[in-house]
Amino acid sequence: MNMSQDEFNQQLFGFLAAATTPFHAVAEMIKRLTAAGFTRLLENAEWDIEAGGRYFLTRNDSSLVALVAGRDSSPREGIRMVGAHTDSPCLMVKPNPEIQSQGLFQLGVQVYGGALLNPWFDRNLSLAGRVSYQCPEGQLRVALVDFREAIATIPSLAIHLDRDANKNREINAQTAILPVLCLLGDEDKFDFRALLQQRLLMEHPQSEVQQVLDYELSFYDTQAPSLIGLRQEFITSARLDNLLSCFTGLEAMLQSDGAMSALLVCNDHEEVGSLSTSGAQGCLLTSVLHRLAGSHSNYAALAEHSLLMSTDNAHAIHPNFADRHDENHGPLLNRGPVIKVNASQRYATNSETSGLFRMLASMEDVPVQSFVVRNDMACGSTIGPISAGATGVRTLDIGVPTLGMHSIRELAGSRDAWDLCRILRRFYNYAGPLSAS
Ligand SMILES: [Zn+2]
Repeated sequence: MNMSQDEFNQQLFGFLAAATTPFHAVAEMIKRLTAAGFTRLLENAEWDIEAGGRYFLTRNDSSLVALVAGRDSSPREGIRMVGAHTDSPCLMVKPNPEIQSQGLFQLGVQVYGGALLNPWFDRNLSLAGRVSYQCPEGQLRVALVDFREAIATIPSLAIHLDRDANKNREINAQTAILPVLCLLGDEDKFDFRALLQQRLLMEHPQSEVQQVLDYELSFYDTQAPSLIGLRQEFITSARLDNLLSCFTGLEAMLQSDGAMSALLVCNDHEEVGSLSTSGAQGCLLTSVLHRLAGSHSNYAALAEHSLLMSTDNAHAIHPNFADRHDENHGPLLNRGPVIKVNASQRYATNSETSGLFRMLASMEDVPVQSFVVRNDMACGSTIGPISAGATGVRTLDIGVPTLGMHSIRELAGSRDAWDLCRILRRFYNYAGPLSAS
């Protein structure tokens, strides 16, 4: 498929705007996969994997594995894998959320992941996620909802009421970040589950809802993703970490030639440590690989001949805070994807896996950058080391440089995602050995 960088970015923006929660990210990926002829596998059914077949499966509606069984090479002979995560830091609604204060209706929230809280103030917020409900026959059902419109905001406290705000304003996550939804009279009562029932029926008119039971709903900024900058060299959006990588890996898979076996895994819960049925510490990927291998000895060969590229955004060097980077390892926007290295294995990269990535990048004429955190600062991590440890598959950590990671709006270069996509496509198509041995 011939695609330009502009077309790629426009499709990326459509994906970012629709993928407001991990559930919606998976639903959007399923749309693209089914349009391309991928069929769903169920984990509780037998699988009949055929050469040239294209499949996907999901867990918890929030993690996804897509698989291409190679025309020329079966999964047992090794799988080219790309990994990413579907979740982003956000504010999630509590189970008993209704709060009425000073004539305003608010919702209690908990903080999901390492959110940078300051940028959440004064935004046009909407709400989306998954709702569970009981239907009249008594069965349990789940459905996705997304209000789409700006239905809430978290107003700042005026500087006149906090003269030290620019010096040392602390944000109390329990009391200071409750979104405001509407005005209420003293006698008014607001039932959040009743509101959700209305919304469910609006978005899913066929569904019969006896009562809403529970939900996983999070607020998000309604501002659309866009190109910005004097020369339109930047892309700016919510959830670039790490939906940019989910989309890039998916697009690379859709554009690959299908000769070699290929897999994309997008896990939920990376931002909170990855330990869940759908997270990278859960058994999703290992379970899929074991089933594809068929036996213990086949698994060892499959793992030995496979490679996983764990893709997650990297910290670009910030011009106003350049001292936060090692001076020789400050990735720049639009200068190519970043290989992340850490001596303590917070990243899974080694010289063999990064060597292959450099070879593939040079075949696409794409430059590569390196990131190592300063020795006097703590290092983040990714699904890379967790997946490598669980599967025994050689892994490396890469990602496009971004600024403002974990802000409600993040910034990346307009070229880097497309460059990474071309390298990942090259990887999926690469018929050579994935290791030196
Ligand atoms: Zn991330």
